[in-house]
Amino acid sequence: MLLPKFTFHEPETLDECLSLLDRYGSDAAVLAGGTDLLVNMKKGLIRPSVVVSLSRVGELQGISTDGDSGKLRLGSMVTMDAIATHQVIKKHFSILAQGAQRLGSPLIRNRATIGGNLVTARPAADSHGPLICLGAQIELTGPSGSRKVPVEDFFQGPGTSVRRSNEVLTQITIDKIPPKCGGVYLKYGIRKTLEISVVNVSVLLCLEKDKTIAHARVALGAVSPKTIRSPDTERCLIGNPPDEKTLKKAAEAAAARCQPISDIRGSAEYRQILVEVLTRRGIEEAARRALSRKV
Ligand SMILES: Cc1cc2nc3c(=O)[nH]c(=O)nc-3n(C[C@H](O)[C@H](O)[C@H](O)COP(=O)(O)OP(=O)(O)OC[C@H]3O[C@@H](n4cnc5c(N)ncnc54)[C@H](O)[C@@H]3O)c2cc1C
Repeated sequence: MLLPKFTFHEPETLDECLSLLDRYGSDAAVLAGGTDLLVNMKKGLIRPSVVVSLSRVGELQGISTDGDSGKLRLGSMVTMDAIATHQVIKKHFSILAQGAQRLGSPLIRNRATIGGNLVTARPAADSHGPLICLGAQIELTGPSGSRKVPVEDFFQGPGTSVRRSNEVLTQITIDKIPPKCGGVYLKYGIRKTLEISVVNVSVLLCLEKDKTIAHARVALGAVSPKTIRSPDTERCLIGNPPDEKTLKKAAEAAAARCQPISDIRGSAEYRQILVEVLTRRGIEEAARRALSRKV
């Protein structure tokens, strides 16, 4: 299927980009890696008359860490491959590298950007759970300035977010993770590659010296209209050691939290069982990683 006709713009600065979005309003679409946008345009699901590419906008590129605070900054045009293979991210924010590594195939990861993965707001997306566990902040910039939104408040439902049509997602920031923390991203799919999650579970745990859990974040993907946190699971974990009793209660709480649908990839009942199994495995693995400091 061919792409429909459109006018193409390649601004070189964020200001130029914002004025184009302001001028064309809902007729314009932002293009990052194109792995969602161009597919949807080819399918005829969307027909923007103007496409504004972000590929030349320097402000949106790059991965950097602040030497003193250890804060990580990701430009929205950073690709999933760059995240999956970045040495600092692999060492200090590995749950995010794990998520990026599970997205699509090498070809897709080389094009797909973190900004696109967020704005496209799929409930099964691979970066959402890791970013929620890491407490990431999203920066949105529009004609009247920038605002920050915690990633867990960004999504509204499948394909929708709090981003306004004249805003660009400019960057994602993540604070340094304290010592003795471990994170794990588990994705269950029918195939090993090029697969959208049937269920995904992200777990971040920080342990006290005596190995009780001091901090816990658990996020569940593909089991709700958007990736969700499971506060009941986190409450079961905090203040307890990751032993058999805690694991059982926490995993059951995760299964109770989700509201999956049945679709071509699996039934709702199957997804609920998967959530329980993966949450349990995720907690065990995150605790192991916390002991060896693999965030
Ligand atoms: C074969 C295939 C396999 C895939 N497998 C997976 C998978 O396993 N896991 C997964 O999570 N996803 C998967 N995807 C979906 C897709 O690759 C990701 O969602 C990707 O991260 C989207 O990023 P992009 O840069 O290509 O976005 P684009 O397609 O360029 O844009 C996506 C949407 O976001 C908007 N947008 C992009 N960047 C910005 C920005 N900075 N500011 C404002 N709006 C913006 C666009 O206007 C568009 O609406 C797959 C896609 C394909 C084609």
